[in-house]
Amino acid sequence: VLEVHDLRRSFRQGGETIDVLRGVELKVGKGEIVALLGPSGSGKSTLLQAVGLLEGGFQGSIRIAGEEAAKLDNEGRTRVRRDSLGFVYQFHHLLPDFTAAENVILPQLIHGADRPAAAGRAEALLTSLGLGHRLTHRPSQLSGGEQQRVAVARALANRPALILADEPTGNLDERTADVVLAEFLRLVREEGSSALVATHNERLAARMDRVVRLHVGVLE
Ligand code: ATP
Ligand code: MG
Repeated sequence: VLEVHDLRRSFRQGGETIDVLRGVELKVGKGEIVALLGPSGSGKSTLLQAVGLLEGGFQGSIRIAGEEAAKLDNEGRTRVRRDSLGFVYQFHHLLPDFTAAENVILPQLIHGADRPAAAGRAEALLTSLGLGHRLTHRPSQLSGGEQQRVAVARALANRPALILADEPTGNLDERTADVVLAEFLRLVREEGSSALVATHNERLAARMDRVVRLHVGVLE
């Protein structure tokens, strides 16, 4: 699903150049859930932004579902993001004026689904995450754990081949983080999707299929 080869990224700060990614090699297979560990500032978010085709300025190869991202123009990158990727962030980024269900329906409509099908899938995903009674609540009317569950449902809505998650439970207390992460892992497996999950948390990482660590710009 994902093949990253010799990925490099530098930032210029003042007169200095900081090499954050120095030749990252990474593969995520179909159905595989990989934990991306590394201390703060090691480049986890930078790596996920590169793989998410959210930012330019990278060197190296990123193949997503068989397509080489470096060869794509802006339109092609948007298409790969929309068709093959799902995103979960530390803060949910839900649309505040829309209900939980609508937050999961909208990306499907943008993807070309018809409304009844999109609504049915949103309800099924949210119900599977224990939110069947929260469909018409707005994000501000949900707890932090519930908001992250909606974000998980939204990320899976279009059946992406790969979910990219950056500290998906990072703003939750320990117990809630455990429960939401377990549900996230279960649902990714049930859906046959794959995931690359950045986290500081060794304990949560141990529950994924494989762990990779960023260390001075490369994965070990
Ligand atoms: P954390 O665990 O705290 O989220 P991280 O592993 O996600 O850390 P990144 O956010 O990827 O780390 O940052 C890696 C390094 O790149 C840091 O030293 C950061 O200062 C630098 N960096 C990231 N984005 C930029 C930018 N736009 N301009 C300059 N430097 C940047
Ligand atoms: Mg980060």
